[in-house]
Amino acid sequence: MNNEYEDVCSICHRTERTAGRMLKMNDTLCICMDCLQKSTDMLNQSPYKEMLGMDPSELSIMMPGMPNPSVEAAAEDKAKIETSEKEEPDGGDKKEEQKEEKKTNQSAPRGGTFFLNLNDLMGGNINPRTKIKKRNPDEKSEPIIKLKDIPAPHKLKAQLDEYVIGQEEAKKILSVAVYNHYKRVATGTMDEIEIEKSNILMLGPTGCGKTYIVKTLAKLLDVPLAIADATALTEAGYIGDDIESVVSKLLAAADNDVDKAECGIIFVDEIDKLAKKPNTNHRDVSGESVQQGMLKLLEGAEIEVPVGATSKNAMVPMTTVNTRNILFICGGAFPDLEEIIKSRLSKQAGIGFNSDLKDKYDKDPKLLHKVTTDDIKKYGMIPEFVGRLPIICPLDSLDEDALVAILKEPKNAILKQYQKLLELDEVKLDFDESALRAIAKKAKEKDTGARALRAIIEKFMLDIMYEIPKDDNIGTVTITGDYIEGKGGPIIGIRT
Ligand code: ADP
Repeated sequence: MNNEYEDVCSICHRTERTAGRMLKMNDTLCICMDCLQKSTDMLNQSPYKEMLGMDPSELSIMMPGMPNPSVEAAAEDKAKIETSEKEEPDGGDKKEEQKEEKKTNQSAPRGGTFFLNLNDLMGGNINPRTKIKKRNPDEKSEPIIKLKDIPAPHKLKAQLDEYVIGQEEAKKILSVAVYNHYKRVATGTMDEIEIEKSNILMLGPTGCGKTYIVKTLAKLLDVPLAIADATALTEAGYIGDDIESVVSKLLAAADNDVDKAECGIIFVDEIDKLAKKPNTNHRDVSGESVQQGMLKLLEGAEIEVPVGATSKNAMVPMTTVNTRNILFICGGAFPDLEEIIKSRLSKQAGIGFNSDLKDKYDKDPKLLHKVTTDDIKKYGMIPEFVGRLPIICPLDSLDEDALVAILKEPKNAILKQYQKLLELDEVKLDFDESALRAIAKKAKEKDTGARALRAIIEKFMLDIMYEIPKDDNIGTVTITGDYIEGKGGPIIGIRT
């Protein structure tokens, strides 16, 4: 079994780190000294004595790998018989007697002692993923993330550029914030000057790449990432996921390695759904209370989390994760936030001689970039929550040009993926510019950002992917704008 993982007591579910030395029954069953002591104490109480029909002090627990006294005794007897056989070649009667004795020794252990093999009691195996990776105390001094391994912001942004189209400001803000965060993690506390945690709030319409940027960042930095949906979270004790479940997701993403998880990233999507509901009298268990509950996570606290599951129950081992070095990124579409910003700006601009026209901000595409923390508070986020997300990162909605670029430019662009698929059939796939424009236009109409692109392409490529492998003579396929608009077919070229 992999001994990189900490043992967990099968009774109290504490880890080796908290419970101390364990008695290891087999690869999956361990008992800590406390639980072993408690069990024997309990068995020594008279009702159990009666139930067992014997004195529990006579009960020995036999573990694999431990010498089995009954077998040893049998071996001892065998040795005795052999020596006596040698000594008294004609001691027939005695030999018979000893053989009898040997038999009884094997079936009923000596002295009325019973051996309980806990292996027999074992039902299913415990999943090794529910085990926690051992922490090496010597490794503590050596941080997992080293300063020299963190790319400088300009390098990080250049790497992001390969995957993410547009969103220049967001990429810049995130590169700097992430760089500073990991600098803080790598150096621990800097003498007297403690660098504050820089959690991030991303604002932008759906499908503009919030999740995608965070995923790419985590991949580039090689840190574990957990993506949670704020709508699924509720206050502890109510139906839904506990707030701590986001930390156990991160622990799972880090292969149950607490040290690795403690410098990971948690992305909480749909954070705007936690906004305070105006004029409600009942308890807001999935909104404001979740914001309250998240405060301590955002700031940094020791959180007791279940291992290998998202909810706490008696059967799940627990461990402690410190969220001090975990970077929290919250993302949301904040649909009506622009209205709030607009009304604030027009109120400011509508007074005095230099007053602007009332509709000046109506068509401002960069309106979200003018957001302030007050606007977010007005939206329904509680001040303490906004205060713990000091970096605000607005994203733009994607226009047609950006959508076309997303189709063909990123390292793993959708078109490149299809081209690769058909290349395996030795067919060259091309999209002409009008096709790309037509796809982008259709996606823009759906108003779900870049998310619509895949669905649209998928629909048009179905026929192509079905028909092409039928005919070995086809060498090239060019998708045209007419084909996308349903006015014509693709241009097929014969293999040369
Ligand atoms: P959301 O902002 O709602 O979290 P996502 O990040 O999930 O949106 O985006 C959905 C998909 O759209 C991503 O998986 C990615 O492939 C694509 N995408 C979105 N924005 C961009 C972008 N700026 N550059 C490249 N691909 C993008």
